[in-house]
Amino acid sequence: MASFTLRELPFSKQGIPGFLSAETIEFHYGKHHQGYVNKLNELLPGSGFEGSSLEDLVLKAQGALFNNAAQVWNHDFYWLGLSPSPQKPGPMMQKLINMFWGNEASFRKEFEQKATTLFGSGWCGLVWNPSHKRTEIVQTSNAENPMRQGLVPLLTCDVWEHAYYIDYRNSRPNYFAKWWDHINWDFVESLLKKHNVTV
Ligand code: MN
Repeated sequence: MASFTLRELPFSKQGIPGFLSAETIEFHYGKHHQGYVNKLNELLPGSGFEGSSLEDLVLKAQGALFNNAAQVWNHDFYWLGLSPSPQKPGPMMQKLINMFWGNEASFRKEFEQKATTLFGSGWCGLVWNPSHKRTEIVQTSNAENPMRQGLVPLLTCDVWEHAYYIDYRNSRPNYFAKWWDHINWDFVESLLKKHNVTV
């Protein structure tokens, strides 16, 4: 029986200085993310999705199977979008920011507003909308994933309380501000290339 394993973190388990503590990694990665992987593996036998890729599960599964598969995918994607050292948006992303938001400050303002006002648990992400040929910032609740609406995820911010409660207590805005300073813009740029995004 094939099963899923917890993906290696793209940075140290000691965390990201100035953003995420080792304790947050221990719980968020080691307990929550691992927990979704374990639950997904428990639910797979007899589901009809044995042998499916994680992305297929995110697109087609329902109920608890979807929730756990999507949370594995969402967390893999969240970690890949983080950088221990500060980065600037790459040339294509810079072009998209200027085209759709005018400048980086307006882009950040909309992202912050959507990330901090999402009620309850969820994700706030940057996506490419292939039908409207534009980048957008979308809020999704619980485990929901933009791929199910035909959108291409480029970056995501975990706004579940478990993402920030150890380091930032109840302050999602403080967490967002540090997250913003640790975005892996090289990763975003590589996805724009991979999906042949042009404007
Ligand atoms: Mn999380």
